[in-house]
Amino acid sequence: MAARDYYIHDHRFAKLIHGNANVEVLWSGGRWAEGPAYLAAGRYLIWSDIPNDRILRWDENDGHVSVFEQPCRNHNGHTVDRQGRLIACEHRGRCVSRYEFDGTRTVLADRFDGRRLNSPNDVVVKSDGSIWFTDPSYGIDSDYEGDASPMEQDGRHVYRIDQTGGVARVIDDMRQPNGLAFSPDEAFLYVADTGRTHFPDCEPKIRRHALAPDGRSLAAGEDFVTCDAGLFDGFRTDTEGRIWSSAGDGVHCFAPDGRLLGKILIDEPVSNVCFGGPKRNRLFITATTTLRSVYVNARGSA
Ligand code: MG
Repeated sequence: MAARDYYIHDHRFAKLIHGNANVEVLWSGGRWAEGPAYLAAGRYLIWSDIPNDRILRWDENDGHVSVFEQPCRNHNGHTVDRQGRLIACEHRGRCVSRYEFDGTRTVLADRFDGRRLNSPNDVVVKSDGSIWFTDPSYGIDSDYEGDASPMEQDGRHVYRIDQTGGVARVIDDMRQPNGLAFSPDEAFLYVADTGRTHFPDCEPKIRRHALAPDGRSLAAGEDFVTCDAGLFDGFRTDTEGRIWSSAGDGVHCFAPDGRLLGKILIDEPVSNVCFGGPKRNRLFITATTTLRSVYVNARGSA
């Protein structure tokens, strides 16, 4: 039994886990793992090992791990768009890019208002094809996970790339916006703020913004949940609107109303998660030096 891997805070969480499903370590040996994305057509997962400037690839068919790309401009977050193409946040490239079917790379956004972005961190694609990303300063603060550089923007913000390639700023009042995800009905955008790394007074929260009827602009943010162990970094939603978030002691699962349901306990800080597998019921977890996974009784939203 794997009861040691779980903390059940609300009885509803017991239905979301399998008592005999262990958290598996699929790979270890990274410096800072983040940015998992599952590519369904190829049944493989890629993720970033940011300080080592590489993207790794785990094959679901045989468990084999190989280097997908190195050097890679210190990628961080990834996602897959509606056509199945990989979308990447590049610290050193200071851009959001797309991997085309023919293997070429297209830069989708590297500037706002004529000035370079900081270091895009995490990215999601909306059903209308727009691409939303966060732009904290971690990738330019030092040479460890990018190139140390002055910030050209007036802060760390959240942006949207529209279907014609235009870049708009959609949130400008966070300290270090980091992970982000839409609710499955796209009524809300959730964004984590890891500003405590730079500003001791910054509460480690996930905020929630209602989308306007135009599907492009956001209402003012409201606090959604506060982290009780370290910081929330990346997270994903499932089909029922629950949030599965990284945290300092594992993965925290929240009901759509913000109630903590339970935790998957991990002995290293977790940076991000994504759902994958043919049924989207396998949660992949990047945790500092490792890639892990666990089957859950929930499915990731599209
Ligand atoms: Mg992040």
